[in-house]
Amino acid sequence: MDGTQPVEELHDLRMRVAELEAMREEWQQAKAGHYDAEERLRTFFAYAPEALVMLDAETGRFIEVNPKAEAIFGRPAEELTRVGPFDLSPEYQPDGRLSREAGQCVIQAALQGEAPVFEWWHTNAQGEQFPCEVRLVRMPWGQRNVLRGSITEISDRKQLRLFELGRAQVLESVARGAPLPDVLQTLARTIEDLLPGMMCSVLLLDAEGQCLLDGAGPSLPEFYRQAVHGLRIGPGVGSCGTSAHTGQRVIVADVLEHPYWADFRELARQAGFRACWSEPIVSLDSHVLGTFAMYFRQPRQPVRVELDIIEIGAQLAAVAIEHDRTKERLRAANESLERRVAERTKELAAANRELERSNDELRQFAYIASHDLQEPIRMVSCFGQLLRSRHSEQLDDEARQWLDFVIEGGHRMQELINDLLDYSRVDGQARPFQAVPLARVLEHVQANLRSSIRDTGAVITHDELPVVVADKPQLIQLLQNLVANAIKFHETGPPRVHLSATRADDCWQVSVRDQGIGIDPRYHERIFDFFKRLHGRDRFPGTGIGLAICRRVVERHGGRIWVESQPGQGSTFHFTLPMREAP
Ligand code: ADP
Repeated sequence: MDGTQPVEELHDLRMRVAELEAMREEWQQAKAGHYDAEERLRTFFAYAPEALVMLDAETGRFIEVNPKAEAIFGRPAEELTRVGPFDLSPEYQPDGRLSREAGQCVIQAALQGEAPVFEWWHTNAQGEQFPCEVRLVRMPWGQRNVLRGSITEISDRKQLRLFELGRAQVLESVARGAPLPDVLQTLARTIEDLLPGMMCSVLLLDAEGQCLLDGAGPSLPEFYRQAVHGLRIGPGVGSCGTSAHTGQRVIVADVLEHPYWADFRELARQAGFRACWSEPIVSLDSHVLGTFAMYFRQPRQPVRVELDIIEIGAQLAAVAIEHDRTKERLRAANESLERRVAERTKELAAANRELERSNDELRQFAYIASHDLQEPIRMVSCFGQLLRSRHSEQLDDEARQWLDFVIEGGHRMQELINDLLDYSRVDGQARPFQAVPLARVLEHVQANLRSSIRDTGAVITHDELPVVVADKPQLIQLLQNLVANAIKFHETGPPRVHLSATRADDCWQVSVRDQGIGIDPRYHERIFDFFKRLHGRDRFPGTGIGLAICRRVVERHGGRIWVESQPGQGSTFHFTLPMREAP
């Protein structure tokens, strides 16, 4: 035996031990790692925000469920692991498919390696149905066909979508002013999208609140809509007739059983309905406007979320209908207003024409009368004066005084008639407008008023004056009346009159300022009326026609005239003349 052999063996042995130890270490580490992974998996499973289930595809039973699954189905894990998905689903899905058949299709798809994601209605321990989004994935699980299902409740999401989508869409079409049938159609379609297989209808109440009228029902058969249109509401008249009558929600889970549907079973059978839930559409002032209804092809009780949806549907329909009625009322009110305005305008135009005609007649009359009166008045004045100059000594004092009254009266009459003639000439002898330098007009006026300027010592000044487009003789008359008044209605010292002109928008504003007695603001409007005088003739002579002539001239030129004045502080008369192209 070789002496080194035991040493080598020992060395080998040591090596093996070290190897084994390293392996054991490795194994222990691996074991710990495995334990960690399993722990992690369990934690993940337990705290997942969605419900997770492991489904044995062979037995059709769950082999593992997480606490969230227990919570949404309302059953403990021991109970859930004794059942399968179809024990937790209604017999039919809302779209009318048998749950078992539809479910098998997706299970097969998942077993073949697809990862289907789909909407599915489940039932909880209380028998309430609720919509979920389900994802199925095949899991590696030895020889067994195991699927992992993750289930998320989407009731809340659905409602949110309803609020966001439905409300926005419906309200937008209301705001756009879309016709009511279109808005109701959009509403019905939006809500149908939320519960696949469900069919919506909106019925309106007629003006008397007695009969149902078709509003919208995009998925309902035409014959059914026609049969309902015009139906008289009342207790037991189907779901909608009853709901409209009582103003209360009516849930008929199976129309073939329910007494409300006794008269309509055949109709429902032909249309293929089994469940019909109807919600009254109520206005803000609590009037029933119609009904919002949901139809299903299978018998069905609503769940909470569906009741929320039907209620929101009815509220949106109320908004649309009320908006439409307000719009209609507004349109009718507008129409009647427009009609009345048109009638009044016609009446006014006729009255204006009549006024114009009688004004013309009046002016003509004034002209003719004053013209024809001139002659006899002149005779009275002339012969009165002749009598006084030739036969005065044959008369006694009283007769002479009376003769003075006659001459004075004739004189005044002459003045009045001259002024009246001037007034009627504003329209009767109008001349075409022409470019007139206002400074020339003023020179003319000063020449005409020469004697009164001289007698009173009046001083007339002016700023730079523009060229205006006007009827020159009328402009002279206008300015002359204003300057003559400025000189006349003055008491102390020589009168001072100042003329200025400024540009205001599209016209010239001419102002005649004096430092005379001024005018109480109470009379600022009335002094432009005929024969309106504020003083007796003994104090200031005149006829009270001058300013009426001024106003008529300014109006004929398309401008306006007004006064600014306070008693004792002088007056400023302003008038405007629109700017015109000189011909
Ligand atoms: P008349 O000068 O013949 O009295 P008008 O029609 O020209 O008639 O004027 C009407 C009234 O307005 C005058 O009687 C007078 O009381 C008042 N009035 C007009 N212009 C002035 C003025 N510049 N200052 C004070 N009062 C005036």
